[in-house]
Amino acid sequence: MTIDRATIAPEGPAREDPTPEGPAREVDALVIGAGQAGLSAAYHLRRRGFAPYTGFVVLDADDAPGGAWAHRSPSLTMATVHGFHDLPDFDLPATDPATEARVAVPGYFAAYEARHALPVVRPVKVLAVRDRPDGRLLVETDSGSWITRALLNATGTWTRPFLPRYPGRFAGRQLHYADYRGPAEFAGLRVLVVGGGASAIQVLSEVGAVAGTVWVTRTEPVVHQGPFTPEYGREVVARVAERVEAGLPVRSVVSVTGLGPSVAYRRAEELGVLNRRPMFDRLTEHGVAWGDRELPVDAIIWATGFRAELTHLAPLALRGPGGGIRMSGTHVADDPRVHLLGYGPSASTVGANRAGRAAVNEIVHLLRDSEPAPALV
Ligand SMILES: Cc1cc2nc3c(=O)[nH]c(=O)nc-3n(C[C@H](O)[C@H](O)[C@H](O)COP(=O)(O)OP(=O)(O)OC[C@H]3O[C@@H](n4cnc5c(N)ncnc54)[C@H](O)[C@@H]3O)c2cc1C
Repeated sequence: MTIDRATIAPEGPAREDPTPEGPAREVDALVIGAGQAGLSAAYHLRRRGFAPYTGFVVLDADDAPGGAWAHRSPSLTMATVHGFHDLPDFDLPATDPATEARVAVPGYFAAYEARHALPVVRPVKVLAVRDRPDGRLLVETDSGSWITRALLNATGTWTRPFLPRYPGRFAGRQLHYADYRGPAEFAGLRVLVVGGGASAIQVLSEVGAVAGTVWVTRTEPVVHQGPFTPEYGREVVARVAERVEAGLPVRSVVSVTGLGPSVAYRRAEELGVLNRRPMFDRLTEHGVAWGDRELPVDAIIWATGFRAELTHLAPLALRGPGGGIRMSGTHVADDPRVHLLGYGPSASTVGANRAGRAAVNEIVHLLRDSEPAPALV
């Protein structure tokens, strides 16, 4: 069930507790974000008996279901995604592989929310999460405040595209992968694609068919030759988890897995566009340059990844001296009330599913061991 924020705020079934900022609604658990990770958590909260709206709620900044999938390029189809894992207890219906992922997945998420009667309130953007003297958390949004005993943050990365800085200035068209809408606008141009991840490969496999492309990456891309077996998946997850448990900044999944033999990779290989060059030194008015050797291009596509969207958690001061957040499983090591889902080792559809379940298990124990008992149905 998705309800419009006008229906639930400011009146509604949840308990209220006045705060200095005005009335706030109270829940035992609050999920931020209704992508794969947030929906998985919401499903498990319902399953464990948390009452929709009075026991828990999901706040999502978008107007409609779909999480990041709703914003992806129309050229990304179900045939070219790397592998999509169904949410628990209701599978993605059989879908024509040619269907745009930005259509198929949001349709599935909408059906999922309805089927499990998940209390998603949108559009509600969380602006800040703060500690309260009573040990609960105050969640400030663009549409009122909430007070919660446990927080499941599942805000993804899509809203924080990463653009590295290089000296110089390019006068032509530049865009991040987040704004890429398919190859048509680049037909017949000279296009530079920056980045060594799966999104760069997708762009090369599409733009390379209609334009001249040059591919640059910071380090030599590593292609994983063997099969992506469950054992290999577990090894990768363990390596990423090791970093976040040590409080180090999160690395991209591809930096650990290497590029896989995806449909897009094979297409790019067939097009002969995978001749990687090292990163340029600077941007110039008409292109890029390595020393005094300049390469003129018409457009630059920065497929340089994303960072975790955690700006609203800044008041909690979760980051340590290493620049990362020290994690223990799905929760912040020093704060068992705060879980980060879809973060680090769980930044994939399968990882997000698992993180939702694991976090809810822990929250059930955390709340049981503290007073008052959670509002279960
Ligand atoms: C281009 C691309 C392709 C990918 N392809 C695959 C693939 O094929 N297979 C795979 O397993 N994984 C893939 N991944 C990774 C996978 O998409 C993600 O790990 C997973 O879908 C992310 O789910 P999520 O719930 O963490 O975040 P999202 O889907 O990003 O959902 C986050 C939600 O939080 C909301 N939100 C953000 N900030 C706030 C706020 N302040 N207040 C309220 N709401 C907020 C957003 O509106 C959004 O609805 C891909 C990633 C990218 C970038």
